[in-house]
This record gives sequence, structure tokens and C-alpha cells, in this order.
Amino acid sequence: MARRKKIYEGKAKILYEGPEPGTIVQYFKDDATAFNAEKRDVIDGKGVLNNRLSEFFMLGLNSIGVPTHFLKRLNMREQLVRQCEIIPLEVIVRNFAAGTMAKRLGIEEGTPLPRPIVEYCYKDDKLGDPLVTEEHIAAFGWASQQDMDDILSLALRVNDFMSGLMYGVGIKLVDFKIEIGRVYDGDYQRLVVADEISPDSCRLWDIETGRKLDKDVFRRDLGNLTDAYTEVARRLGVMPQNATPMEKPKLIN
Ligand code: C5P
Repeated sequence: MARRKKIYEGKAKILYEGPEPGTIVQYFKDDATAFNAEKRDVIDGKGVLNNRLSEFFMLGLNSIGVPTHFLKRLNMREQLVRQCEIIPLEVIVRNFAAGTMAKRLGIEEGTPLPRPIVEYCYKDDKLGDPLVTEEHIAAFGWASQQDMDDILSLALRVNDFMSGLMYGVGIKLVDFKIEIGRVYDGDYQRLVVADEISPDSCRLWDIETGRKLDKDVFRRDLGNLTDAYTEVARRLGVMPQNATPMEKPKLIN
């Protein structure tokens, strides 16, 4: 196969030019980073799991009318997505206090919030993705008021969908981050959910035990990350056949 042109390499994914104009191939790496890449490791099988899980969530969103960039999964580590212009914001939705918000506001982790809280961070690794307000977003022209209305509505729909899906398999959706892309259909532009939705970008806690099933396992050294992601995939029925990402060598005695 001809070598594809690499467009961008991020912390957890590589983007290649897709087979058709307007498409991109998204390759999921096994690299895990946290604290703006101060902590890093390679976690065997993470990319395979996130590719499958993100496919599952994006297909579900597409099927209830929430537009996403997802077109189809190509193989264990790659998916075909629509090329879009990424709005330089991380859109975070929180249902329970955790992470940076718990710290910033001195709220105990796990405290239920009176309603979902949406936060925006400016996507800039060098600055550590600082929290910004709608004032900054409007003043610096990162998104229009119409975009912001659409982003809020997309974020809350993703939250409802993901919360319900997770609740059904005994998992609490504490918070998550999405990215939003702009796609053009001729003169017409619309916003879609882009990037990925996976345990890398969500906080997922077992409802019964509180066990963390997301990237905090890596951030906080709480155990085996692949085991946690595999558990999420298993509960959702997403575990790929023959793809136990971490099959350990069998000992022959
Ligand atoms: O760290 P913080 O508490 O702000 O994260 C909120 C949510 O957004 C978490 O689910 C986290 O995994 C996600 N997030 C992310 N990428 C970032 C920052 C946060 O996926 N760069």
C-alpha cells in the first residue's frame, strides 16, 4: 500500500490523509500522557480499545441524530473520519465534581453537581489548555455566538446519551471532554463532535464500588489501565473478538 501522508501527530493519535478528499484516517496509538505530557508511558492495547470504544460512542450518537465526524472503522487501530476544522476549545461537561474543578473550587471529588456544568478550555499545550470564558471565546473570535449555542446543545446531548449508556452498565459518567469540528457542505457549515470519546477523555466510576475505569488509573497510578478500559468495553459488549489487547503469553508447564 502506498505510504499515506501524515498530517498531524498528537499525544494519543496520528492523523493521515484519507482515501477521498475531505476524509482523514485517525490512528490510535498506545501512548498515554498526563499532566500536559509530563507523565508518559506506552500502554499496550490502549489504542485498540479506544478505537473500538470511540467508534461505539460515535455510532450511537450518529444514530440518535447527534452529528459526529465518524464515518467507519477501518481496522483495529484506525478509523475514517470527516475532515473538519477543529474549534480550538476543549468542551468539558461535568456531572460530579472531580479533577481540576474539584481542586479549583475546593469541592470534594464525587459531590453531585446541581446540574451539568459546561466549561471551556483553550486548546494550547504550551499554555496547559487554560480555562476560558465565553467572553474570551467571543472576543478572540474562536467561535461565534451561534457556534456557542450549537456547542452547548451538542455537549448536553452527548452528556445525556453517554450518561444513560453508562448508567445502563453500572458506570457513573462523572465528566468528559469533547472537541467540536466545523464541516462544510458547499456553502453551508455545521458543527460535529470530533476527535474521540473514550476512557481517555471521560471519568467513569463503577456505581457500586467507585472503582475508576478511566485515565485517572494512569494519572494517579491506580493499577492497570488496559484492565480498566477492557472492563468498560466488556460491559458495553464492545470487546473485539480475538483482540484481547493484552493477551498475556500463556505459560506451558
Ligand atoms: O482534568 P479535568 O478535571 O479538567 O478533566 C475533566 C475531563 O476532561 C476529564 O474527563 C478528563 O479526562 C478530560 N480531559 C481530556 N483532555 C484534556 C483535559 C481534560 O480529555 N486535555
